[in-house]
Amino acid sequence: MRHCNSVFNAADIWFLLDTEKHFNRRLYLATCPVCNKKMALYSYCDKDKNNFEQMFYSGGADRIKEKVKKDKVSTLLGYRNKYKAPYGFKYGKNVEIKRNGKIIATEQYACDFFGNKVLVKRTDG
Ligand SMILES: [Zn+2]
Repeated sequence: MRHCNSVFNAADIWFLLDTEKHFNRRLYLATCPVCNKKMALYSYCDKDKNNFEQMFYSGGADRIKEKVKKDKVSTLLGYRNKYKAPYGFKYGKNVEIKRNGKIIATEQYACDFFGNKVLVKRTDG
């Protein structure tokens, strides 16, 4: 997440159910540490695996949270509380998010050998 010339991790990530046209949907939530503005980054893929992102601020962030909360299947905070990450994780995996052939972000996952995967860090750019 990026605001006020500073880059910071999302405070929480909501993992959302797929819709007919949107897959791998997530809502990244954060508060800018500089100006305290509430931020929500809505991210999803289309059927061709193109990644789309939409940023919402303040009241807009509250509205997108209201709108998608019924689709929430799990959250990063819930996962951390449940499993006390990184306990039990076996390896890390980096996934590059591309748009028009350009890398726009890198996502770092913690994986175990049971096929579980959780996003631990996202770096833009
Ligand atoms: Zn800010």
